[in-house]
Amino acid sequence: MKAIRGATTVNCDSPQEIREKVKELLDRIAAANKLTADSFICIMLSSTGDIRSLYPAKAAREAGYSGCALYSSLEPDMEGALPLCIRVMVLAETCNSPKHIYLHGAAALRKDLSRVINIALDGPAGSGKSTVSKLIAKKLDILSLDTGAMYRAVALKCIREGVDYAEKSQVERIIENIDLRVGYKDGRQLTLLDGEDVSGEIRTAQVSMLASYVSAYPSVRTKMVSLQREIAKSMSCVLDGRDIGTNVLPDCPFKFFLTAAPEIRAMRRFSEDRLKGSAQSYEQILKDINERDEQDRNRAVAPLKCAQDAVVIDTSEMTAEEVASLICGKIQEKI
Ligand code: C5P
Repeated sequence: MKAIRGATTVNCDSPQEIREKVKELLDRIAAANKLTADSFICIMLSSTGDIRSLYPAKAAREAGYSGCALYSSLEPDMEGALPLCIRVMVLAETCNSPKHIYLHGAAALRKDLSRVINIALDGPAGSGKSTVSKLIAKKLDILSLDTGAMYRAVALKCIREGVDYAEKSQVERIIENIDLRVGYKDGRQLTLLDGEDVSGEIRTAQVSMLASYVSAYPSVRTKMVSLQREIAKSMSCVLDGRDIGTNVLPDCPFKFFLTAAPEIRAMRRFSEDRLKGSAQSYEQILKDINERDEQDRNRAVAPLKCAQDAVVIDTSEMTAEEVASLICGKIQEKI
């Protein structure tokens, strides 16, 4: 059993704000420590005297942390204390070393514990980004964020709502109202659309092509980039995508750009898809990859492009494990 600490601040003393911030804090603790709610043994919360509108423990229960012992208390009024602050101690079953989480204004309380490391991993379709990203995350004991999955979820929403994706205003209506979140279960990313886990459904050829199409709309990119920056700010992670090093995190100190010949990338996808029982031919996959590259490279907003300060790795003749080790070696050199 391990004890995990955390804290967050709220913007105001309202039940809604307390619900959101407590849920965010507990979800981040669960994700960073690769835990699910049922591995929590108890959650002890305390809040500063300026928080009166909702017991943080009630917010925790409403957020789904109801299977463990919950407790809230009021902190003593201390001179110079951080206002509107909620602190937590979680006891949980885990063998890993605890990762403590300090969010928003509370990040300033424990700068030593709040150091966030982001790694930008960009490249075209099939260059190995997502496999390599997961391997790096495992080696560094952090999480990976597949940003392509977020654009795929937008595409899926367009399909489900039957919108004409060539009509900018229809896609804008979708993006204004979308409820898109990223969660983690046992360290694995879940893509949640309107509260439903769509991680499997977004992996079709139709969604791939449509994701590339809708990702060219500025309104879609603005919303996705802001969500990605929020996530990157709150936790150490490897972000894989097309524009992480150039646009999402231009100041990120660790940037990598993976390339590989289109034929090799298509063959990788073909072998992966065959294992999953897909009937798409190699020729069709190659055609789709070339078409997607063309669209991604030539769009006006944040096109697929190598950042000037990124390390370029041609993965054509390398295994994913070799690429991940090379990248981790370069990160260790800089840390
Ligand atoms: O990486 P993946 O193939 O899942 O991405 C699907 C599509 O989402 C890409 O073809 C690209 O158009 C878009 N995308 C993007 N920016 C990112 C990640 C993905 O435009 N950061």
